[in-house]
Amino acid sequence: MTPLGRIVAERIAADGPMRLDAYMAHCLGHPEHGYYATRDPFGQAGDFTTAPEISQMFGEMIGTWLAQVWMDQGSPDRFVLAEFGPGRGTLMADALRAASRLPGFRDAAVLYLVETSPTLRRVQADTLADHGPRWADDVTSLPDLPLFAIANEFFDALPIRQFQRAETVWRERMVGPGDDGPRLVWGPPRSEGHLTTRFADVRDGAIVEVCAAGEAIAADVGTRIAACGGALLIIDYGEWDGIGDTFQAVSRHAPTDPLAAPGEADLTAHVRLRALAEASGLQAVGPVGQGEFLERLGITERARALAAGRDGPALDAIVAQHRRLTHPSEMGSLFRALALVPPGAPSPPGFGP
Ligand code: SAH
Repeated sequence: MTPLGRIVAERIAADGPMRLDAYMAHCLGHPEHGYYATRDPFGQAGDFTTAPEISQMFGEMIGTWLAQVWMDQGSPDRFVLAEFGPGRGTLMADALRAASRLPGFRDAAVLYLVETSPTLRRVQADTLADHGPRWADDVTSLPDLPLFAIANEFFDALPIRQFQRAETVWRERMVGPGDDGPRLVWGPPRSEGHLTTRFADVRDGAIVEVCAAGEAIAADVGTRIAACGGALLIIDYGEWDGIGDTFQAVSRHAPTDPLAAPGEADLTAHVRLRALAEASGLQAVGPVGQGEFLERLGITERARALAAGRDGPALDAIVAQHRRLTHPSEMGSLFRALALVPPGAPSPPGFGP
């Protein structure tokens, strides 16, 4: 059993079955044994590869987007440029290179990284050494300025709860004791007042997922952006609405049992974009597929420019990266982009007419 598996088993033995959000928070965020606290999980040698680690083109398109939205809102002369869950800092480094071509943007930006993992903060400090980043634990500790922010594959890492409808009540999915380690069990039926509105769209026997941590962050971002201006761009896998069990684990680039090795696999769930949009209280633009979004921002022209003068494997690599980021059978349609902007703000680029 992993060290975290033992901690989970002891907690369950002492207090009874554990909620899924507590299990996820332990596995991902435990300060000593948590998944993100103990490693840099990205890339070929790690467990999964994210879009910014596939190609510089991804971060560059985000940088172009941020610069355009900042300009559309009157180019405020001081603003917070923030990334939630920046991983290795690759996206922000590429975005800053692209956005800095717009005069005034770089000087006006105060760069903040919202990151909990000390290990990844060190990697980010390296990658972004030339940009003087600061770190924050949450949105409310960011300075009171317009907030232009990006969250790529961030919300999927936040803990969820699962409820199964049983006619007029709900049963919550828990992590309970088992013969050879923890296993998923259903709790006793309860009325769950916060789910009353879900009787309309969740039929009997179906599972609904709730991400309170994500909704709280969206609400804080919404309050700040409504008061000071700005925008949040969310890119993640998930749906606008969505029913069903999407709790999953990945290790070494392959799906695995989320209970098999606590603390050693990445745990995620699909992002329910509508819930985040509603929690923010902002104007939601999108969602559109990542492929469509990147195409509208000019990723194909950028790929052509990078490919110019190259041939053989160097050329093939750029073609493959472009395909991976945009093609519907790769990341192009499973991943979606959603923008949250102040009510009445100009429509941001990338989302169509
Ligand atoms: N955006 C990056 C990394 C995605 S992985 C990329 O696209 O490559 C998720 C990131 O969110 C990691 O950096 C992880 O440490 C961070 N994270 C997870 N939970 C967090 C939380 N509650 N607050 C801040 N950061 C968190």
